[in-house]
Amino acid sequence: MAGEFELIARHFTRPVRRAALGVGDDCALLQVGAGMQLAVSCDMLVEGRHFLSTVPPAWLGHKALAVNLSDLAACGAEPLAFTLALALPRADDEFLAGFAQGMFALAEAHDIELVGGDTTAGPLNICITVFGQVPAGQALLRSGARPGDELWVSGTLGEARLALEVFRGALALPGGDFETVRRAMELPQPRVALGRALRGVASSAIDLSDGLVGDLGHVLERSGVGAVLQADALPRSAVLAAQPPAVQRQCVLAGGDDYELLFTAPPAQREAVLAAGRRAGVALTCCGAIVAGRALRIVDAAGRDLPPSWPGFDHFA
Ligand code: ADP
Ligand code: MG
Repeated sequence: MAGEFELIARHFTRPVRRAALGVGDDCALLQVGAGMQLAVSCDMLVEGRHFLSTVPPAWLGHKALAVNLSDLAACGAEPLAFTLALALPRADDEFLAGFAQGMFALAEAHDIELVGGDTTAGPLNICITVFGQVPAGQALLRSGARPGDELWVSGTLGEARLALEVFRGALALPGGDFETVRRAMELPQPRVALGRALRGVASSAIDLSDGLVGDLGHVLERSGVGAVLQADALPRSAVLAAQPPAVQRQCVLAGGDDYELLFTAPPAQREAVLAAGRRAGVALTCCGAIVAGRALRIVDAAGRDLPPSWPGFDHFA
């Protein structure tokens, strides 16, 4: 069996091109551009909580980095580098090779590098910290939504939750449809290009990880505003649209693991918003408006109020 340092050398040490110093010393060294702020975010993935033991290792490597890049996307930051802290039950070379392949493929797609980490024995647990840069004062924040702003969401929602319900045995889908939603759940694509294109256009942003209504609640709270959300306007894929209306609603409003961006922008920015979506190659849907006050109203296509509470995921609730 390989030791700790052999594992690191074999799976996680690659020449760095961008960072001033990568794996192998006590610290990595990153160069941030002049006039830029460092954007930092950290996400942990625990087996059984954030992923199923059946996930292909390469997909797990992808997702561990993707959920972190999604946080940089929400801030409009350009990714620079990341670190990886890993607890492993055993030195499983086959698992690590797959994991590294999926993780590095996504890293290369975003032109970023693994510059350090920590490796210990323990229950499978993956913690990545990403570092990005954003022009000083230009990061997209949760706190910038203002009454009158329109509410937008990228991509489609709810497929990851649909997949989870199939894994749980609560729902069944034909094989091809299951494969589609499983990819949404296990291979999310972080909206990094969109986040950057929305700098100077969006007034606030958040990435959707715990369910739309819960995540929107964070924006409303930090911004001190309310919103009217058009539930039936929320974008869903053909697979989800074939489900009963109650399932669709649960999945789009409170699904979780969507990794799309939810953002606000003044109506005067509508053309700029749509141009940002085109540049990033992501569909954008207007799904409501920010209002004065602190309340969230969720309405259907006929304007009828739906229940306002759709709890997002909370590990300790
Ligand atoms: P230290 O004891 O100084 O914290 P370690 O002995 O834990 O350093 O790690 C040695 C080197 O290997 C360090 O540069 C560290 O950043 C790197 N490293 C450890 N684990 C990983 C990993 N999973 N991925 C990438 N680099 C790692
Ligand atoms: Mg040291």
